[in-house]
Amino acid sequence: MRLGIPSETTPGERRVALVPSVVPKMTVLGAEVAMQTGAGAAAWFPDEAYAAAGVTLLDAATLFATSGFICKVQPPTLEQVGLMSEGSGVVSYLQPAADLDLVRAFVNHRISAFSLDLLPRISRAQSMDVLSSQALVSGYRAVLLAAEKLPKFFPLYMTAAGTVPPAKVFVLGAGVAGLQAIATARRLGAMVRAYDVRPAAGAEVKSLGATFVELDLESQEGEGGYAKEQSEDFLRRQRELMAKEVAAADVVITTAAIPGRKAPVLVTADMVHQMTPGSVIVDLAAETGGNCELSRPGETLDVGSVSIIGAKNLPSSMPLHASFLYSRNVAEFVALVVKDGVFAPNFDDEIVAGTCVTHGGEVRHGPTRDLLEGGTQ
Ligand code: NAD
Repeated sequence: MRLGIPSETTPGERRVALVPSVVPKMTVLGAEVAMQTGAGAAAWFPDEAYAAAGVTLLDAATLFATSGFICKVQPPTLEQVGLMSEGSGVVSYLQPAADLDLVRAFVNHRISAFSLDLLPRISRAQSMDVLSSQALVSGYRAVLLAAEKLPKFFPLYMTAAGTVPPAKVFVLGAGVAGLQAIATARRLGAMVRAYDVRPAAGAEVKSLGATFVELDLESQEGEGGYAKEQSEDFLRRQRELMAKEVAAADVVITTAAIPGRKAPVLVTADMVHQMTPGSVIVDLAAETGGNCELSRPGETLDVGSVSIIGAKNLPSSMPLHASFLYSRNVAEFVALVVKDGVFAPNFDDEIVAGTCVTHGGEVRHGPTRDLLEGGTQ
């Protein structure tokens, strides 16, 4: 069987689902590895490096038609699904609820589709966890974007010309991306404060040398270590209690999210207007509704004297290492569904079952099936 790696065609996407150093993790499964010519170029991996690792280079149409299993970053297009052979499989970020036409195409072409954003977050799945590996990139990048925009130093300087105090960074949400932002801002010498609705995050924040901000609010810890959805009353009180923290910060990095829900609005337009001139907000939740009321994904806005950077696909802006981590995750997942060179998913495995959107002409993911049956799209 052939494992196929196509070029990413989504505008702005520079990552690739397999990097040359991870090819042996695929060939050891007994499959031939093929990729679309030039698929790694935007992530700085040339065709020659893949060829040297034993990868066959093909055009897109041949690759889709002859691969038993496709690995991608972004979902395939309807046209690409049309090229795939019946009974073959694909893994990528799919966010099936966002594109029900694509789910219908998988069903009609009897494609087995697996979505890495549905991966159960159990210990055994950690090595496949693309949400974590890519959040690490986003958290790091967010700080660099802020540092570049801020008209101040991050570190403390004591010079003959005078003392410059360190920048004050406030991180909202101390999950994977938030903790990485804290660590990066600390390495640059900033004074970092952070808040999360899960009190358990406090110890991790402190272990990175930052201050965990205590607000007089109830814990919002939900299932599996995630935050639960908060009421509008809770968010109103949080915004009130947090307003001083935001106003005192030179940089605010927001990463707050609730799985499967719109991101909560935590920084209002009024709070932005209270910030000091030259301050910067980086909103990592911009694509899922925005933690800052004013942010727009992919845009940097100057609101009064404050810059608001609406993050959009930050992992793609650091494609070499983002692709390296992504392809390690994907290779671990492929090892669960390809055995002795054959695509053979075992649905007794909760990771395989939990990530499967469609198989054998059926929708296996309950919430997506409900959406399709409800005729929502
Ligand atoms: P996420 O991206 O869904 O959310 C980011 C953070 O925002 C979370 O820490 C959340 O508590 C916080 N948040 C939500 N609402 C908020 C609000 N109103 N104010 C402030 N903060 C708010 O989460 P994530 O970063 O993917 O993961 C969160 C946690 O899940 C991790 O810290 C970890 O404990 C757990 N996790 C477990 C595994 C695993 O076992 N495989 C993998 C990854 C994460």
